[in-house]
Amino acid sequence: MASVMDIYVDGEFRQSSTTETIAVTNPASQEILAVAPYATMEEVDRAVAAGKAAFEEWRSVPAPQRARLMMLYQAKLKENQDDIAKILCQELGKTFADAQGEVWRGIEVAEQACNISSDMLGATSENVARGIDTYSLIQPLGVCVGITPFNFPAMIPLWMFPLAIACGNTFILKPSEQDPMTPNKLTELFYECGFPKNVLQLVHGGKEQVDALITHQDTKAISFVGSVGVGQHVYRLGTQNLKRVQSMTGAKNHMVVMPDANKAQVINALVGASLGAAGQRCMAISVAVFVGEAKGWIPDLKDALAAVKPGAWDDDEAAYGPQISVAARDRILGCIDKGKEEGAKCLLDGSNCSVEGLPDGNWVGPTLFSEVTPEMSIYKDEIFGPVLAASNVESLDEALELINSNPFGNGVSIFTSSGGAARRFQSEIQVGQVGINIPIPVPLPFFSFTGWKNSFYGDHHAYGKEAVRFYTQTKTITARWFERDANVDANMTIALK
Ligand code: NAD
Repeated sequence: MASVMDIYVDGEFRQSSTTETIAVTNPASQEILAVAPYATMEEVDRAVAAGKAAFEEWRSVPAPQRARLMMLYQAKLKENQDDIAKILCQELGKTFADAQGEVWRGIEVAEQACNISSDMLGATSENVARGIDTYSLIQPLGVCVGITPFNFPAMIPLWMFPLAIACGNTFILKPSEQDPMTPNKLTELFYECGFPKNVLQLVHGGKEQVDALITHQDTKAISFVGSVGVGQHVYRLGTQNLKRVQSMTGAKNHMVVMPDANKAQVINALVGASLGAAGQRCMAISVAVFVGEAKGWIPDLKDALAAVKPGAWDDDEAAYGPQISVAARDRILGCIDKGKEEGAKCLLDGSNCSVEGLPDGNWVGPTLFSEVTPEMSIYKDEIFGPVLAASNVESLDEALELINSNPFGNGVSIFTSSGGAARRFQSEIQVGQVGINIPIPVPLPFFSFTGWKNSFYGDHHAYGKEAVRFYTQTKTITARWFERDANVDANMTIALK
């Protein structure tokens, strides 16, 4: 019998007093790995109260000292990178190499948080009027909340709490209930570095816990990553409750293939970017837009996709793993059926996929549709599986029009050998992250993760300088000091003239 996982609330890892739980399963086998509790409302309140009390102390710890603790955490994460990756593989099914890559990308954000002393510098202007100086202080907000999705259980929590905490906030993480073991490990390692109690707390649960954290009068800022419907709900509920909210949501990412691109690179990029992580990436390419003669490459693309095999995380031959749940797999199979019904040409059908020795896994094989048009649901909906839709257009103009009409704006890519085409594309495309001969253009942590349109609600994006702005507020001070023997009245009159 798998044990019920701890939450970290009010100074310690503890068992929740809830009776409501959810099984955490290995998606390759359905083996129950652990049981996650849905924290009670009393525990949520207790976490917020503890976070609020801890904030008063933590905000006054000097920024270089907060940064030094973060350096220890960065080193601790590095030391434990493979252990974290193994936990992640078991509960999410990613291949080991993919999981190692994910953990590394999270470590890079923790690394950036070590730079907090200079990232929180204010500005000074001497003598804005005679004898008067103005300067700004960058100060933390209080208790911040992170709500994270299943598909990056290490990287996305690490997008949030290291930076929020380095800024001097305290943080409550509510990770996905589908793979909560990785966040528990991240929290354990955090407290091995000597951070004060309650600077980071971990509450498991679902909608009820999320809504309680958002509406609680003492939480100040909400970072959310997840699907578009939930992200809109979180943004609305947060802003109605006068919270600062950043909501990173769903996607439909296109890759434009110009006829002057390198064919081998195009096919290689499309295979990796559509099937990697079983298509469960918010930056996965789900639509390939072939311009003009480039459509002649579709048969070779099909062969390359067909050669890719899913499998267990520790199978060296496997290119990607299972879908996170039976429900996710069934939803994807439903999307494939609908694509066929709506008249798209299914060149490769991964519906009946099986993996030897793992008959109960949530497998979906590589799937390719061609002749996909914008009215079809496989074009409109985020499928979040190893399914690639191919569309044909006659010109770069048409490609721009197609993509700019799409409501999502997370990532996009163009493959071409023309600098002119690439330059025009980067300027006119209405998408926040653009790759040029790069299929998945995720910016490193000294930039920010800048999705647009329905892929993002809020003002400041995740990580980088934008996140420092998100997790802090600016105080502007205008100061005048008098010399001991100066004639105060006379000086004031002069200064205010
Ligand atoms: P999800 O929206 O189902 O869940 C995300 C979080 O919200 C989880 O912690 C979950 O417990 C909570 N939640 C679920 N339903 C809720 C509700 N009704 N009210 C309040 N909270 C609720 O997302 P998911 O399936 O875990 O993750 C996949 C989605 O995340 C995809 O749409 C993907 O595009 C998106 N995503 C976006 C980015 C980005 O940066 N834009 C990154 C990764 C994933």
